[in-house]
Amino acid sequence: MSLVVQKYGGSSVADAEGIKRVAKRIVEAKRNGHQVVAVVSAMGDTTDELIDLAEQVSPIPAGRELDMLLTAGERISMALLAMAIKNLGHEAQSFTGSQAGVITDSVHNKARIIDVTPGRLRASLEEGNIAIVAGFQGVSQDSKDITTLGRGGSDTTAVALAAALDADVCEIYTDVDGVFTADPRVVKKAKKIDWISFEDMLELAASGSKVLLHRCVEYARRYNIPIHVRSSFSGLPGTWVSNEPQGDQQVEHAIISGVAHDVSEAKVTVVGVPDKPGEAAHIFRAVAEAEINIDMIVQNVSAASTGLTDISFTLPKAEGKKATAALEKIKATVGYDSLRYDDQIAKISLVGAGMKTNPGVTAQFFEALSDAGVNIELISTSEIRISVVTRADDVNEAVRAVHTSFGLDSDSDEAVVYGGTGR
Ligand code: ASP
Ligand code: MG
Repeated sequence: MSLVVQKYGGSSVADAEGIKRVAKRIVEAKRNGHQVVAVVSAMGDTTDELIDLAEQVSPIPAGRELDMLLTAGERISMALLAMAIKNLGHEAQSFTGSQAGVITDSVHNKARIIDVTPGRLRASLEEGNIAIVAGFQGVSQDSKDITTLGRGGSDTTAVALAAALDADVCEIYTDVDGVFTADPRVVKKAKKIDWISFEDMLELAASGSKVLLHRCVEYARRYNIPIHVRSSFSGLPGTWVSNEPQGDQQVEHAIISGVAHDVSEAKVTVVGVPDKPGEAAHIFRAVAEAEINIDMIVQNVSAASTGLTDISFTLPKAEGKKATAALEKIKATVGYDSLRYDDQIAKISLVGAGMKTNPGVTAQFFEALSDAGVNIELISTSEIRISVVTRADDVNEAVRAVHTSFGLDSDSDEAVVYGGTGR
């Protein structure tokens, strides 16, 4: 008998109707002869609402208590889903992350899974039950406190359980029909991708594509768990993410897999840095000690007359205040002039393993942006990705222009977005 792990996102279980619809789908998989573990997210925008609520009672809520609060969201949906399944005449049991054996480190609000001990799930499945698991949460190995895995963490729960249970597939159900060549909320002509490699998917996720979380894809690649991303609102086959395409999975986009964009970052410029050894190290040590992950970095050639240079880098907007505070502290020792903070930026990335062997890709990317009248502020590349920073106002137009330029526009139907507010 095969075992499937299915994960349903918040927009798929947004209300009672949604929960009943998802229950039917799970029962269908069970009737088709599979053992089923279903991981659920909190209903609709519950997590955002709980965060808003926490911030109303405390500007900086304590990490431990925030985790305790947020995990309640997933507990609501798991219990309701189990009830809905029982109502259809099938046996189901719900489990918190801790009960399901999701063991994490003790970093509240962004814990990492370090072990999965799914004994209770196995026993429940053996008894013929459908097991429902609250996503996005675990229990700390050391403190035994309840933790959460960071926003969107239910995907990671699903893949981790699939790996621990040696599942045949991990199905991620969402509000679009799969992974598209661009965000279908921005590009109506985005095409659904039938198959994409872990490698390209990792780059898309790192570049701001929200359909799958980077950590989840990383986990799936490490344990070689194929992921099937599909809609819970349609019966259509979705996108397979794996090492190698199987059977009739189409590999259409040989050169470019897609265009991703990200408006969640800001840019910090350290102006007038003395151009001598050790200054960049000093600056980025200070940023690292504030536990801030940076993304792109650019240092200009120093003007010969002044011996001063500017260093710019990008980082999550949410970390902006922390970063500027850390840099203010070292202003005198580094001896730079001033700091500039800019949160009106967007990053646009072109991803595809094919660009390794196709020299014209960068030029075509820049031409498409220039034809759309979009100015480039920063550039960074990897072997299979080119990213630029532009004004935030230009982002939608830029993404569409690049998508069209690389022939990614679909000539058939418009991409469907079934639900979710994209909040
Ligand atoms: N409910 C959590 C969130 O909104 C986890 C998830 O949806 O995966 O981030
Ligand atoms: Mg969510």
